[in-house]
Amino acid sequence: MGIESALPVDSILTTQLQRVVNWSRRSSVWPMPFATACCGIELMATACSRFDLARFGAEVMRFSPRQADLLIVAGRVSVKMLPVLQRIYMQMTEPKWVISMGACASTGGVFDTYAVVQGVDQFIPVDVYVPGCPPRPEMLIEAIMAIQRIIDNDAIPRDGEGARLPLNIAVQPNFEPRSQPVPVTVGTT
Ligand code: SF4
Repeated sequence: MGIESALPVDSILTTQLQRVVNWSRRSSVWPMPFATACCGIELMATACSRFDLARFGAEVMRFSPRQADLLIVAGRVSVKMLPVLQRIYMQMTEPKWVISMGACASTGGVFDTYAVVQGVDQFIPVDVYVPGCPPRPEMLIEAIMAIQRIIDNDAIPRDGEGARLPLNIAVQPNFEPRSQPVPVTVGTT
């Protein structure tokens, strides 16, 4: 990771075990994509080279819920699919996180009909809402970073009995992503 070059030779670092655990957890969030519609295409773009979700350690999409700790609901969920979504959520490992990506997942979007769930948060706890139709990849990355910040600070909210509470974070619709840290040099000539 390059940290060795910044340290003097034969030096040691001391830290707290909990910090190391949190650092490794937030650097290895493994998403479980529940992509049912067009938002899933933006989710795929987020993992591709232009946006490079690997920078955040979250590019390893797992299609087994037992190997995942971040459920990304991307697209509308029909009432018929809802039990599947709930089962996937229940099979995921703790501590686990949920992102509701796009208007359809969060509210049903334009599909105001009896067959479409009008917001998955009525049935599973949602930690971060990402607005848009579809949201841009930067907004999804911002949502993942919001979860990383919570993990880093060991700030998982719990109720009086120790049960985890949803974070209830919403990426703002006017969120403006910062420019890429390095200029794009491929394909611009
Ligand atoms: S929010 Fe828009 S882009 Fe996303 S699934 Fe719904 S219609 Fe498609």
